[in-house]
Amino acid sequence: MKLGQENGESRDMTKRSWTSQKRKLLLETYKKLLNYTCAHPKCESGFDVEAHHIRPLEFGGEDKFWNIVCLCRKCHRSNGLHNNVDDEKLMDLYTFKGVHERTVIGFQLDEEEENFREKYLRAINVNRNFDTEERFIASNIFNLVTRK
Ligand SMILES: [Zn+2]
Ligand SMILES: [Zn+2]
Repeated sequence: MKLGQENGESRDMTKRSWTSQKRKLLLETYKKLLNYTCAHPKCESGFDVEAHHIRPLEFGGEDKFWNIVCLCRKCHRSNGLHNNVDDEKLMDLYTFKGVHERTVIGFQLDEEEENFREKYLRAINVNRNFDTEERFIASNIFNLVTRK
């Protein structure tokens, strides 16, 4: 199922399976955009990069780009990131995310600018991690990127 079909979401597809498909796609797209690099400033590994929900889903976090950060396996498993993290830790992660995105793709995915969509599409188009099909999917994922 392609993301562009989201609005016409088929009835026979349970909400749960659509949600998990959407999440998988979103996380994969995010990792590709960030070239599979770890956002932690004190990273000493960098291997096996995973996408992490900054505010965990079970504590009200959302499946949106602005809530996702790339962390290598080692950084992801440390620091108790999957507990109900305090505000200070959340702020740290949002800062790491912001610096990471500016460094790797040149802008932040939670920026609220008129030309945000254009920047996002350009970032996908120049990124060699995406093949043609994935580029198409990634450009249709835009409705998952924005806050609303
Ligand atoms: Zn790391
Ligand atoms: Zn995680």
